[in-house]
Amino acid sequence: MPSTLLESPIEYLKGVGPAKGELFRKELDIHTFEDLLFQFPFRYIDKTQFHRIADLNEDSGVVQLRGILRRLSVVGDGRKKRLTGVFRDESGAIELVWFTGINWLEKALVVGTEYVVFGKVNAFRDQLNIAHPEMEVAAADNTQKSSTFVPVYPSTEKLNAKGLDAKARRRLMTILLERLGPQDLPENMPAGILQQYRFPSRFQALRGIHFPQNQQELDAARNRLKFEELFFLQLRLLQLKRRRKTEVRGYVFDKIGEQFNLFYNEKLPFELTNAQKRVIKEIRRDFATGVQMNRLLQGDVGSGKTIVALMCALMAIDNGFQACIMAPTEILAQQHYNAISEYLDGMDIGVAFLSGNVKGKKRSQLLKELEAGDIHLLIGTHALIEDPVVFKNLGLAITDEQHRFGVAQRARLWAKSKPYPPHVLVMTATPIPRTLAMTLYGDLDTSIIDELPPGRKPIRTVHRYDSSRNAVFGFMEKEIAMGRQVYVVYPLIEESTKKDNSPQTAQDLKDLTDGFESMSRRFPLPRYAVGMVHGRMDQATKDYEMARFKKGETNILVATTVIEVGVDVPNASVMVIENAERFGLSQLHQLRGRVGRGADQSYCILMTGDKLGNDARTRISTMVSTNDGFAIAETDLRLRGPGDLLGTQQSGLPQLRIADLVEDQELLQHARQVAMRLLEEDPDLRLPKNAPVASALRERKDEVVWGRIS
Ligand code: ADP
Ligand code: MG
Repeated sequence: MPSTLLESPIEYLKGVGPAKGELFRKELDIHTFEDLLFQFPFRYIDKTQFHRIADLNEDSGVVQLRGILRRLSVVGDGRKKRLTGVFRDESGAIELVWFTGINWLEKALVVGTEYVVFGKVNAFRDQLNIAHPEMEVAAADNTQKSSTFVPVYPSTEKLNAKGLDAKARRRLMTILLERLGPQDLPENMPAGILQQYRFPSRFQALRGIHFPQNQQELDAARNRLKFEELFFLQLRLLQLKRRRKTEVRGYVFDKIGEQFNLFYNEKLPFELTNAQKRVIKEIRRDFATGVQMNRLLQGDVGSGKTIVALMCALMAIDNGFQACIMAPTEILAQQHYNAISEYLDGMDIGVAFLSGNVKGKKRSQLLKELEAGDIHLLIGTHALIEDPVVFKNLGLAITDEQHRFGVAQRARLWAKSKPYPPHVLVMTATPIPRTLAMTLYGDLDTSIIDELPPGRKPIRTVHRYDSSRNAVFGFMEKEIAMGRQVYVVYPLIEESTKKDNSPQTAQDLKDLTDGFESMSRRFPLPRYAVGMVHGRMDQATKDYEMARFKKGETNILVATTVIEVGVDVPNASVMVIENAERFGLSQLHQLRGRVGRGADQSYCILMTGDKLGNDARTRISTMVSTNDGFAIAETDLRLRGPGDLLGTQQSGLPQLRIADLVEDQELLQHARQVAMRLLEEDPDLRLPKNAPVASALRERKDEVVWGRIS
């Protein structure tokens, strides 16, 4: 039952009123009692612990001390008048200072008495002091009665100025909690789970998160609330998945036909790896069920996802349907188009490319052919999901994600086909961490290509400082003498349109061209040839430069991250990354994946200046120590956190109130398992023991069903 008390407008809480109510709404997005209750402290001041004065420094923050007041004196006069005290414990002494209430304090405080002092450590002229500390006579038995964890809530200067400072927030929270009883916060988890995990009740947990008596109580409350959040998240994802499987019908592709066989027998230039075969089988099985497929395909860089995508598209085409492959950037889409056109050369299949840059007559012609069904496979950017793009019968939609498609965008694919939505295959460009996959793609089935094509030698990665550039040049020279080719990559923000004329971009562009020039001097014509490619060039120049490198006409290609994706030159064996500290981990891994595609030993050289921050150091050492994209993804998640890892807010990641996808990986796995078991036993949540869950879910309905991805 919804609690009307919790729904009360915030200004009705005693001590709030209209003015503060307005502040709550405007500054903190707190509208109701419930909003207030669910804004948890972001930290606690541990009043159960005492600091030693000798251990204090200017970064100690708010501390609690226990010691004896040794001296008390009034100094200065007029506006500079203040009361100062010397406070001493067995380790040392610190100054206490008051600027107001001097007369009263002078009488109230007793020199020689043992106090508990509480306040924030400041540094003033190289001396530490505490201004306006809270003072309390120490309890004789050493147990301070008020000792507890004091919650600290998010605040702003404005709030502080207008009477909603930390203390006021605590007072209001106390008032709120006094008014709330267990009936206002009914349990939403089955008793069995509470028992199994020894979780406090919901009511206890919500009190405990605001005013824990000790660390254990805080941990228990936090755990329970995190679990609850993750549990409901997973429950909804799994429910969605289940529901789709029972309710959303899909096209049946039951024949393996002409084109697939022709390709497999005559065109496929290599033997598929076992992992590729397994994944194709998994997808083929999905196609035959009559249920719409929603599958995530993960594989490391170079594991051969493109060919899998293509062969799935051929299955759709053989069954009389169209397929599309959507990539997040123009360059990547173009690469897919080029690679796939090459694979399909000589076959009777209509392949076309569509992006925002395909315009005018070319575009209208393409749209006509698409609607008529003459185009079987459409490859492109998100232009594919725009309104005027009409398929005759789209049976399979593949997205190459790179974490960049938003939920809404993926959802629009559904509308492109009638009567059923197309089968959906989501591919990730690099592996994504398990917990993120579970959350972001928790309603999809998963396939993993966990094997690289045979004959690949692991790439050797080293870290070199700019100061040893000559040695690196020497190494490049040796490799080139053996007939190999080299990439040299510079950081430059691409894709950020022509409008981006920031100083940083200008500097980057200069670094790139300087790099190209010094490379051309060190490796001069006619013996050597150096090429350059970057996103600011026009398409024709880019294509020309890429083609020259591919044909082996240039030995060295100086480039930006335009070569991050798709580029495939097996003879290139060295990847030099300049200013490697400026690249993210997954980007470094992607770049490194451009070499090691042939039979030769390949190398990745990470160049940096001598001064490296901690994170940069971790990124570089991770790259040096492993080639495993899944391991790299985990480190990347730890370094950057889920939001940054995925890029924009439109990443589809849910807003979590308390759980943390990095810290709470284990809890998340438990939550998912518990949710899974619960749904297996009771898919519609009809059992009495699951009634609390069912009713909580009904109440949460109004939340965005963000999970409705793809
Ligand atoms: P990614 O998974 O990174 O998208 P690609 O699909 O681009 O990888 O494949 C990387 C390279 O490996 C391509 O040159 C592709 O032709 C090649 N390749 C894919 N599968 C195999 C295989 N089974 N045997 C040999 N080479 C393969
Ligand atoms: Mg790829």
